[in-house]
Amino acid sequence: MKIIKNYINGSEISISKDTIPVEDPSKGEKIADVVLSSKDDFNLAIQSAKNIQEEWSNTTPLKRARILSNYKVLIENNLDELAKLVSKEHGKTLSDAKGSVTRGLEVVEFACGIPHLLKGEFSQNVGTNIDSWSVRQPLGICAGITPFNFPAMVPMWMFPIAIACGNSFILKPSEKDPSCSVRLAELFTEAGLPDGVFNVIHGQKNVVDLIINCNDISAISFVGSTPVAKYIYEQSAKNRKRVQALGGAKNHLVVMPDANLNQAVDGIIGAGYGSAGERCMAISVAVAVGNIADDLVNKIHLEAQKLKVAPWTDTESDMGPVISKEHKNKIENYISLGIQEGAKLIEDGRNFKIQGYEKGHFVGPTLFDNVTSEMTIYKEEIFGPVVCVVRANNYDEALKLVNDHPFGNGASIYTSDGEVSRHFTTHSQIGMVGVNVPIPVPMAFHSFGGWKQSLFGDHSIHGMEGIHFYTKLKTVTSKWPKSINDGPEFVMPTN
Ligand code: NAD
Repeated sequence: MKIIKNYINGSEISISKDTIPVEDPSKGEKIADVVLSSKDDFNLAIQSAKNIQEEWSNTTPLKRARILSNYKVLIENNLDELAKLVSKEHGKTLSDAKGSVTRGLEVVEFACGIPHLLKGEFSQNVGTNIDSWSVRQPLGICAGITPFNFPAMVPMWMFPIAIACGNSFILKPSEKDPSCSVRLAELFTEAGLPDGVFNVIHGQKNVVDLIINCNDISAISFVGSTPVAKYIYEQSAKNRKRVQALGGAKNHLVVMPDANLNQAVDGIIGAGYGSAGERCMAISVAVAVGNIADDLVNKIHLEAQKLKVAPWTDTESDMGPVISKEHKNKIENYISLGIQEGAKLIEDGRNFKIQGYEKGHFVGPTLFDNVTSEMTIYKEEIFGPVVCVVRANNYDEALKLVNDHPFGNGASIYTSDGEVSRHFTTHSQIGMVGVNVPIPVPMAFHSFGGWKQSLFGDHSIHGMEGIHFYTKLKTVTSKWPKSINDGPEFVMPTN
């Protein structure tokens, strides 16, 4: 059985002999073991990052950009292999996995512009013969801790930008699908990245705690569930680290009576059930406004029944399994709870079996109607293929639902009324908002991040927010008076 090792200083190496299994979720079978790193493994990664940090930060942005350009080509050339690694361990369809690697690749493309992105500001004569400018300098060693649901894309939101900015990076990927991170690191070495700039270290909470408590690490990027995001934010801040911690979500899609119904249904089906609902930007709540509700529920139901649930090896699969047996049980318990709490179950995805894959962690598309804001299935993130329809009498009620929910990652509105759409984009208490698009995920050159319980910290991820997160601002004020001596000044200069 393959053992997935750490990637430190340009090669696969692990000191610890402890491992845990990695599964193929379609079959519910172990396909590899992944190392649970020890303190010695962690120290090795830190030492290798420390050894190269100064040299890397002094490497010109243009030279760094050329390595990133090589990396971009290597990712393009190996996209199929990377996507397969994602699908094998995560279970999502191959086309979805390819799409997710491509979204990561776009961050690399963005980071190739680092000489331009790091340009500072300059003012001549802020005072007589005095100039002032600002530069952004690297932080040092940065770390990333990432979730299982996007094993390529989410790490790639972080490390290409951190490294482009002149930092070295330690990635602790999800222990549930760790292979892709190692391959991404190997390809970066192949692209010409000096050993030690990018290290991957596997493990669970113990490694996360080593990262939080390590004085050599300056900044932590985290993406995962809200309770862990909060923990990492609080502990890292206590240790005086810069931190961005992105958490869970409960994304609403509001369907107004004047919406194009077919477009709204397509949006809900793709964003609700795609990747088996295991996306932080999945639509888990459809808010049906006014008299559109019956038609909306009927059409979602009709389309949900047509979806093909199958392993990633089936090219016609619309959605694969969820990540683990525990997660399948958790989702099925939420469905049972929804019934107990009085929601109307329209389509039941429990006990979903596929011939030949009986031990796979499949949950079928599930649809609830008449969900209310008091119910647990509305309040909590299910992270599975479960769409809850909440009925609202009017737009104001729909907006209140969106704004009162503790999560604030994404929300969308489907309408043909520009005034309503403008009101929604202005007044929704949400980080990423869509109009007639179901998953408003910002592109690499914009920034990704929610509000409220969906993000702890001041910076969103990638785009210019990423550049700012991974650099420190320095402002220089400089005077070159070759021959003039004005004597000491005791007042604040004003000209
Ligand atoms: P998770 O919080 O369980 O794990 C995320 C990372 O934290 C993993 O690397 C894991 O090993 C580590 N971890 C787990 N428990 C820990 C603990 N107690 N202490 C310290 N570290 C711990 O999340 P997950 O199940 O891997 O991913 C799903 C979650 O991630 C969902 O809530 C989803 O909404 C969220 N997510 C959010 C975004 C976003 O951009 N906001 C993107 C993707 C996923």
